[in-house]
Amino acid sequence: MARYGVDIGGTKIETAIFDDHFNLLDSWRVNTPTNDYALFLNTINAQIIKADEITGEQCSLGIGMPGLINHHGKVLSANIPCATNKDIAQDLNTLLNRPISIKNDTRCFALSEATLGAGKHHSRVFGAIIGTGAAGGLCINGKLEQTTLGIAGEYGHIPLSAQLQQKYQLPIFTCGCGLTGCVESYIAGPGINRLYQHFTGKTETAIYWHQQLKLKDKTAKKILDCYLDILSETFATLIKVQEPDIIVLGGGLSLVDDIVTQLPEVIKRHLFPGFPSPKIVAAQFGDSSGVRGAAILGSLPNES
Ligand SMILES: [Zn+2]
Repeated sequence: MARYGVDIGGTKIETAIFDDHFNLLDSWRVNTPTNDYALFLNTINAQIIKADEITGEQCSLGIGMPGLINHHGKVLSANIPCATNKDIAQDLNTLLNRPISIKNDTRCFALSEATLGAGKHHSRVFGAIIGTGAAGGLCINGKLEQTTLGIAGEYGHIPLSAQLQQKYQLPIFTCGCGLTGCVESYIAGPGINRLYQHFTGKTETAIYWHQQLKLKDKTAKKILDCYLDILSETFATLIKVQEPDIIVLGGGLSLVDDIVTQLPEVIKRHLFPGFPSPKIVAAQFGDSSGVRGAAILGSLPNES
């Protein structure tokens, strides 16, 4: 039997059909309605009806989307305001006449990489997106940890340490989550722009910074060192609490080789002396990991 995954982003909804080994059979994208909940539900409904027509079956369905999703399936999402405080799983269940599993998209990414991707031979796998935001999830023996509020994995909202703030004289930002001083402001994609601005007074994109880094530009290297320090300390904090065997990186900044390869050495500096860093690797499935993880989630019994 085929499996469906739906990855709802702030601009696009990706629907994918997989075979029962989670090989991709078909996928397509449509625009995300963000301000009209009835239209939002109808748009997802239409994609599943289309998928049912393609497969000739009523297949299992899992959904990943940005935001905090509690164990009842209730959503708090800044990117898709019409979904906030709605019980999407219940509403789609009524429309589509099948159980719906829904989780934060970065937790779906972690599940995909832990079960079939770069983390599949490890017991404790933390999947971490460093893209437009910084969040992820912990899987233990191929299963996402189950929590009540849906907060676990939000490592981007660990505060910047006083030690690093002083070392680099960093400005402190108010975070989109409502807290102040979250590391996401520095370690997600837009964080590179902020660090560039801080060290040079100039406005440049992360893409420009990456180009300069490849040219061995000294300023770009200095920004990399600060970036690695902050991300490594954040991961060291995560390691002290969760002790993953491997951290699988996804999102745009995971494509910067210098970040992936240099992280373990810098992480060690933030751990207890003599202790090794967990393995750090880039995702196996890249951008398609979220939608595959959603399909895996939908195929599991008793997941919500
Ligand atoms: Zn925050």
